[in-house]
Amino acid sequence: MRAVVCHNAELDVSERPEPVPGKGQVRIEVLRCGICGSDLHARHGIDQWADLAARAGYERFGRSSDELVFGHEFCGQVAEHGPKTRKTLPAGTPVVAVPLIRGTHGGVDTVGLSPHAPGAYAEQMVVEESMMMPVPNGLGSDVAALTEPMAVAWHAVRRGEVGKRTVAIVIGCGPVGLGVILMLKAQGVRTVVASDYSAGRRALAGACGADVVLDPAQDSPYTAAGGRGHLNDIPSALELAVGTREKLERLPFGWWHAWRLGEKLGAAPKHPVIFECVGMPGVIESIIDGAPLFSRVVVVGVCVGSDQFTPAMAVNKEIDLRFVVGYTPLEYRDTLHMLAEGELDPSPLITGTVGLDGVEPAFTALGSPEVHAKILIDPRSTATEPAAAGPG
Ligand SMILES: [Zn+2]
Repeated sequence: MRAVVCHNAELDVSERPEPVPGKGQVRIEVLRCGICGSDLHARHGIDQWADLAARAGYERFGRSSDELVFGHEFCGQVAEHGPKTRKTLPAGTPVVAVPLIRGTHGGVDTVGLSPHAPGAYAEQMVVEESMMMPVPNGLGSDVAALTEPMAVAWHAVRRGEVGKRTVAIVIGCGPVGLGVILMLKAQGVRTVVASDYSAGRRALAGACGADVVLDPAQDSPYTAAGGRGHLNDIPSALELAVGTREKLERLPFGWWHAWRLGEKLGAAPKHPVIFECVGMPGVIESIIDGAPLFSRVVVVGVCVGSDQFTPAMAVNKEIDLRFVVGYTPLEYRDTLHMLAEGELDPSPLITGTVGLDGVEPAFTALGSPEVHAKILIDPRSTATEPAAAGPG
């Protein structure tokens, strides 16, 4: 079978033996696979990732000297069951799968980022049967392949604990930021502000449902949604503290009873939830500098290198800084069903489709943010340039 192999940062289409499903595994025929920003980074920077993973006790990550087949955002159809499988889904069933498999050497491998778990930049691949789910409701393979990146967005939004009336601000409108915008709107969040320097990405943010879209070179994303009761500086927080105390002074009973009751009823300064979807050095610091007091910041962008910010700035504003990664199998399953039930439509993200021979040009095209967001690989396609996708 044909596959795109990455070896020492070179991508080459080569002929490889058809994978054989091990115990509890299923071979699937790949229908679509998304090219992820992390694949672009892994091509040149996987050794740095492997070192970081090792620091967290995970030694099974791929290295640049390995022969790697990327691809963890995929949709396929069941082709062959390995030994000791339940075989509940017959051959031909369209499926997606959480990209984790139980390796033969013990431990769990990340599909598409480990030499022990080749990914979906290929005609065929192996998935873990327990991680595999049927694609419901006739959902097209283009959108089904986006289950994985949309699950990342779903996890981030859940960790953000965004109420419908909370202002959500999305910094960076690449595929991750666009996914977050789609999920926020699917959850009924009324005001989603999207910020990106690229005009092309701002247009996509609007297509994904962002209510306010702006260029941070021109406008501040932190004031774009209006005051909304946010505290934008220290004087307003001090004024709130003293002013509230003065108001409660007029009550005929102890002010502390009223204050405590207010807290129990959830009275608290309003704050936005800000999603960092860029992953470049300096972005967290710029968010802390610009954000209203008490903002919650959810870091979804993956900055692999060192970064710095001034803790006292975050302390003064009592910034709630959260970092998120991946999703649970339940979040993955729920995302698949949200897509299949039409609760959100990520098709604006899909800006092109290529065959295996088009992967290298697609990587180049994704280097510029103006035209492309998500390029899909269709292993049966002969397209060598990421032409616009047809209806999938
Ligand atoms: Zn990804």
